[in-house]
Amino acid sequence: MKFLLAFFFFTLNSQAQDLFGLEHSSFHTVRRTLIHQIEDPDLDLEWELGVLTSEDQIDSALISFTDASGAFWTLQIFQNALLPTGPTFFVPHDNENDAFLTGLSAIKTYGGHLISLDCAEQRICAGGIDPNRHFLPNYPLFSETIMAFYFAKDYPVITLHNNHDSHWSLGGSGAIYADLKTPYRGGEGYYHAGDPDDLIIYSDTIPSSESPLFEHFSMFFEKLDINSIFEYVMPGGELGGHMSTYVVLNTDYEYFNIEAQHGHLEEQIDLTEVLLEVLAREL
Ligand SMILES: [Zn+2]
Repeated sequence: MKFLLAFFFFTLNSQAQDLFGLEHSSFHTVRRTLIHQIEDPDLDLEWELGVLTSEDQIDSALISFTDASGAFWTLQIFQNALLPTGPTFFVPHDNENDAFLTGLSAIKTYGGHLISLDCAEQRICAGGIDPNRHFLPNYPLFSETIMAFYFAKDYPVITLHNNHDSHWSLGGSGAIYADLKTPYRGGEGYYHAGDPDDLIIYSDTIPSSESPLFEHFSMFFEKLDINSIFEYVMPGGELGGHMSTYVVLNTDYEYFNIEAQHGHLEEQIDLTEVLLEVLAREL
């Protein structure tokens, strides 16, 4: 009887969670978990801060796989059980804790999925790999596993990152900064208000002067006082291996990265709200 009950519960649970075919893939190991059972310092923080409460209905799973480079990856997947059809948010860097908190808060508000790459709380994973430089043609399983959570939906790719204060050229320690014409090669800064480290990055395969995407979003961002960086992505360019490059060169999806300085949780949640509002006018 005990066995039957357990089986029944597992069946219910597995039907509720959308893993977009990865559960049938021979390349992936899928382990469905209860969110309370995942041991992770980021989740401890969620409970502690009340971003996650026992009332929340969040399904969770761990997906692991080895890509063609030999790198072994584990993704934590969280789904709003009541509203699975919302957007997908991806947090590639395990040391960026406010990005993770923002992602979980976002799926509670907007539904959908949060994917968090597990990497022992570090930015750089085993083998010296930065996951956000690993979207390379040689390792399609890596990119395609993450993109599976976007391809089934009408939302753009949304990622969440945290950055460091100011800009190295101004004596600071970061490279992501809206109040500089060229914060990094391929990026154009547009500053409107608040801290120039809190901003939205979006990308296109054509320069801003010719990009309808730039024309559309820069107008909204200016009107709403949102700082931004526009990335002009070229094949073989400076941003190779970045998820932004992969998405705009290989898919029909738009790419947005919500960036806030470490510690700016409220600002990152606010930026997410504004972006979702702007996107709602489009969808
Ligand atoms: Zn990051």
